Amino acid sequence: MKISDILNTTTKTLFSFEILPPLKGATLDEIYQTVEPLMEFNPPYINVTYHREEVLYNELPNGVIEKRVVKKRPGTVGIAAALKYHYKVNVVPHIICGGFSKDETENALIDLHFLGINNVLAVRGDAERGMKSFQADPQGHGYAVDLVRQIVDLNNGKYLDEDLENATATDFCIGVAGYPEKHSESPNYESDIRYLKQKVDAGADYIVTQLFFDNQVFFDFVDRCRKAGIMVPIVAGIKPLSVKSLLQILPKTFGVSIPDTLVKEVEACKDNKAVRAVGIEWATQQTLELIKHDIPAVHFYTMGKSDNIKAIAKRCF
Ligand code: FAD
Repeated sequence: MKISDILNTTTKTLFSFEILPPLKGATLDEIYQTVEPLMEFNPPYINVTYHREEVLYNELPNGVIEKRVVKKRPGTVGIAAALKYHYKVNVVPHIICGGFSKDETENALIDLHFLGINNVLAVRGDAERGMKSFQADPQGHGYAVDLVRQIVDLNNGKYLDEDLENATATDFCIGVAGYPEKHSESPNYESDIRYLKQKVDAGADYIVTQLFFDNQVFFDFVDRCRKAGIMVPIVAGIKPLSVKSLLQILPKTFGVSIPDTLVKEVEACKDNKAVRAVGIEWATQQTLELIKHDIPAVHFYTMGKSDNIKAIAKRCF
């Protein structure tokens, strides 16, 4: 089923979450251990993130520097298919621009189509580790909007190989990312909303937001979107704080602000177990308020751990 159909017809706020493919060498059982505890809350769909390759440099015994391109978290397509057929649940693998040529993107979409997966979340991806800014693959896309356009082309039966005859049209429902506090590279809200609208006008069916800790920030974002004519469902992204270091990492890396009250509560914690408890309570109160405002779904960033998400879901769903 298409995620947009689910979001457009739901009469209550839905519970959804995303998982990260584990580090290379893990088994499917480890993935099920993250997912299993959350299935009792009936998620209508599960997202699986995509992680681009990293470039590593090793010094060989002869002094030569060897460059290696390594994917530490491969397996998005396989994990998505395994979850779909194991739990009979809709899955949303993420597709990214970074490190992908258009041909590789098309091939990944063809694999998903064969696997019966017709939902994707199309994002650009971040800069490669060690690089100051995002660099597109020479044969790939520089912005998520171009990825959306490629998926829409495939939905219209238009493949990269223009000589292809009787090509089957795919039927992907496309989610995209939105930023309540604007994307960190964006000069201002107006520009960010303009480009978000471009993604929706290109064919995106719904938006999932970056994490936020102040619901007013989300409500203001929804208002800005509606005023700009963006009318698709907007899903709220929530991540419970779990370790103290996130107080520095989240604002610096994602441009996400953390309210003073929450900062003080976390700073007063004597260890990360206490931080986890504060994070659960804060995210629970956020979720309860979002549910009161009838938003279509709350999307939890699990980061591969589900105990805190389960504690929140138990009180909210
Ligand atoms: P875009 O929409 O391309 O926007 C990037 C920046 O460029 C923004 O500042 C925007 O305002 C600007 N911009 C957009 N279009 C144009 C244009 N035509 N001209 C000029 N400027 C433009 N990353 C991963 O690597 N893997 C994942 O699985 C993943 N999943 C995510 C899921 C969600 C819900 C979210 C919120 C983020 C996710 N990310 C993921 C992170 C994401 O890749 C980064 O935030 C990335 O920096 C931006 O992605 P985007 O799709 O929003 O980019």
